[in-house]
Amino acid sequence: VPAPVIVVHGGAGARGRAGRARDAEARDGLAAAVACATAVLDDGGDALDAAQAAVESLEDRPCFNAGIGSVLTSAGQAEMDAALMDGRGRAGAVAIVRTPRHPIALARAVLEHSAHVLLGGEGAEAFGAAHGVDAVPPGFHVTDRERARAVPPSPGTVGAVVLDARGGLAAATSTGGMRGQHPGRVGDSPLIGAGTYADERCAISASGHGEALIRAVAAHEVAALVQHARLGVAEAAERVVASIATDAALIAVGADGSVALPFNTKGFSRAWRRGDGPVRLAIE
Ligand code: ASP
Repeated sequence: VPAPVIVVHGGAGARGRAGRARDAEARDGLAAAVACATAVLDDGGDALDAAQAAVESLEDRPCFNAGIGSVLTSAGQAEMDAALMDGRGRAGAVAIVRTPRHPIALARAVLEHSAHVLLGGEGAEAFGAAHGVDAVPPGFHVTDRERARAVPPSPGTVGAVVLDARGGLAAATSTGGMRGQHPGRVGDSPLIGAGTYADERCAISASGHGEALIRAVAAHEVAALVQHARLGVAEAAERVVASIATDAALIAVGADGSVALPFNTKGFSRAWRRGDGPVRLAIE
């Protein structure tokens, strides 16, 4: 029986002085996300439940660019994307949504209740309303700080990958996208295989330059290298990040409990825990 492993991230990229001033907040948020996932596993939840819980807690924290704290499009709105997938091949995702309190919870509803994998925009929001997903008014997720653009474009996409004690794997990712993006732009995060992927061998959540991660099909590329090239998860994840010329970072966990957190950026907020060991945390 493997010891459970929880890995979370709070986004890749240089933070700038204003961003660094919020490091304590980010560290708090990451540690709380690991604690949330731990509580879910202790309660008998599986890897998917734990990854979702970790991401929901990060969506609640205004210091991350997901849920509350999402960055604004060029039209001044928060348009959020989220996805999750488990090692059994179950997947759910949403794009360009404004009203779910927790975009990752809406992605979970798509996984559970829809014949589809990815729903976007108003149709996704209506689906959430029909399935009892907590909704809030548009603008709920926009902080005064973001409205004032008081901080430089910041990293802060969030994600989690989990290996549970039954050997189950899951990945979850949530984001407000890139500040100033064109309305309707969809990044890598909600695209299965680009920013989020899991199979029975590994689970991956990405952050960084969405367009590059999409073109590299980054998360699936890690899984493909593990499956077909028989690389270890760490080597596969490092190779994929190294192959991307612009900002890229990944968290990955393997069915054997191996963990990888490679990044080619100035910073990558991340935290991880194996079994009941200590929570490890790094931002640079
Ligand atoms: N990958 C995200 C996106 O392109 C942004 C990020 O990770 O910072 O939407």
